[in-house]
Amino acid sequence: MIAYEIGDSLYLNITNRCPNHCSFCIRQFGDGLEGYNLWLEKEPTTREIIEAIGDPTGYKEVVFCGYGEPLMRLQVVLDVARYLKKNYPSVPIRINTNGLGNLIHGEDITPHFKGLIDTISISLNAENAKKYQEICNSDYGEDAYYSLLEFARKCKNYIPRVVLTVVDLPEIDVEKCRKIAEELGVEFRVRQFEGEDGERN
Ligand code: SF4
Repeated sequence: MIAYEIGDSLYLNITNRCPNHCSFCIRQFGDGLEGYNLWLEKEPTTREIIEAIGDPTGYKEVVFCGYGEPLMRLQVVLDVARYLKKNYPSVPIRINTNGLGNLIHGEDITPHFKGLIDTISISLNAENAKKYQEICNSDYGEDAYYSLLEFARKCKNYIPRVVLTVVDLPEIDVEKCRKIAEELGVEFRVRQFEGEDGERN
């Protein structure tokens, strides 16, 4: 399943790859979400994604999300976003990400988002690097946490709406996380942990 509806939004599932291995990730629990099978037999091409979207007019937003980290496929995200902005400029575009795009690509990718992405939702997940690594088990170790904070700060230059999110796990100090978002000057949202039925990146 490449494109799937949740509520009024259209979600795009473009890769199952991710450098993190979060304890709460739906990838740990099964095949998908809300009855959709999100394991991809192969990663879709830009053209296949555009065909799967069809006409998105009427959706509240189009969201690069996945069952994996969408920015593993940065060029595809940018190409699809460019197509959508050209053909359906009234439909907002959001990326849900772990915020590790700069580590994944070895450079600052945030300038690419200018004029293409309306909202970016970045998983903060913890109030410090040690706890982040305990929960997210990143291939990058504790560096991941510092990189995602820097990524959020840089995104503010190019994306109108930047949101840091946490999952309401008991081990998380939500108030400290809220403070980090405030200090960065970005929005903050707490997501509900819904176990195998629901949490998505
Ligand atoms: S929750 Fe997101 S960042 Fe964590 S392993 Fe799953 S896809 Fe990767």
